[in-house]
Amino acid sequence: MLTPAEADARIGQHLQCLPIESLPLTQCAGGVLRENIYAERDQPPFDRVAMDGIALDSRAVADGRRAFRVQATQAAGDPPLTLAANTACIDVMTGAVLPAGCDCVVPVEDLTVTDGEAVFGAAVRVEPWQNVHRRGSDTRQGTLLVSAGTRLHAPEIAIAASAGMARIRVSSQPMLAVISTGNELIEPGEPVLAHQVRRSNAYAIVSALREHGFQRVADDHIQDDAEELRERLRFHLETHDVLVLSGGVSMGKFDLVPQVLEELGVHAIFHKVAQRPGKPLWFGVAPSGAAVFGLPGNPVSTLVCLSRYVLPALFASLGQQPLPPERLALGAPVTVTPPLTHFMPVRIEQDDWGRPWAMPAPTNGSGDFTALAGTDGFVELPPGPNTYKKGFVTRLLRWS
Ligand code: AMP
Ligand code: MG
Repeated sequence: MLTPAEADARIGQHLQCLPIESLPLTQCAGGVLRENIYAERDQPPFDRVAMDGIALDSRAVADGRRAFRVQATQAAGDPPLTLAANTACIDVMTGAVLPAGCDCVVPVEDLTVTDGEAVFGAAVRVEPWQNVHRRGSDTRQGTLLVSAGTRLHAPEIAIAASAGMARIRVSSQPMLAVISTGNELIEPGEPVLAHQVRRSNAYAIVSALREHGFQRVADDHIQDDAEELRERLRFHLETHDVLVLSGGVSMGKFDLVPQVLEELGVHAIFHKVAQRPGKPLWFGVAPSGAAVFGLPGNPVSTLVCLSRYVLPALFASLGQQPLPPERLALGAPVTVTPPLTHFMPVRIEQDDWGRPWAMPAPTNGSGDFTALAGTDGFVELPPGPNTYKKGFVTRLLRWS
């Protein structure tokens, strides 16, 4: 049986990179950049006034002058004025270009202005370039600002806008199909009988996908019937990039998913991973290149496998640069008995010094998803038998 790391490697070998599309900036939040962004101009593009006040020539102050005639006003967006004489100053606003002939700004808080003359006391220090954000001091024209493979959040979107880009090249969103299997599953809102259960996994999977920025998500429910499975899965394989199935991959008589997928030409890459929960995980690739994840139906297994395998695979296929895994220390000991990688749900709590700890929140087995309420994610613990003490640092995966 594969280890989780071996399963990751197999998935990675069979993923297709999604195509690129050019989108207006307003539609790029959460997307993955597929081109480099370079500085259009120096940043700031001119010597920028950084305080409301007066701009003047600091040499006049060094010579002892403390009173300056206000020559003119320069607002942000005005072309630069020129200082007429070093006995004069120019009233300037934050964001304005520093007027020619000036080399500093004295803030309005340090001044009194009477009859068109600005005066400040001897205690007010005036140095060349004070309160001036100098041209090119942040970045130079042509500097690489954001590289391909970066996930776009507010700062990167602002940088793209500052580089003058109205549209940017990002990975196109994959077409995802979330498919529940099982005769026992009943839709929320419909009457449910004693021997039936609610179809909850699909809602969990769809919301996790949406929370991570995936919007093109179809949802289907298929009965445990080989013919129906064949028909519907054939359709989904033709129309989607990635299929996320839940249920039907274990060893039961009605766990028909692997067999039907293989009949449809989906090549099984692996079935089963040495982990708890989620051991029956199935992964395959269709002739079209579509990736198929068969997640075990037990709700804790489904969510763990989604976060541990499906979401990272989706980000890799978007072209996202791999991020180092997040790690956190256990806040209490955990004993692991079977020789399987163990995924333990955790709540992240801060101690009195503000340090975060992963507090174990064990479930009553892989069917007990009600125990997940209020948890933040889960940690990955190496195979047992072993007791991992408080302070053991290990990989953390968050639900969101
Ligand atoms: P399976 O993997 O199909 O053998 O299902 C394992 C367990 O998970 C069974 O108790 C199913 O009823 C339950 N299960 C499967 N799919 C879902 C779902 N979509 N929502 C809630 N429970 C499910
Ligand atoms: Mg089932």
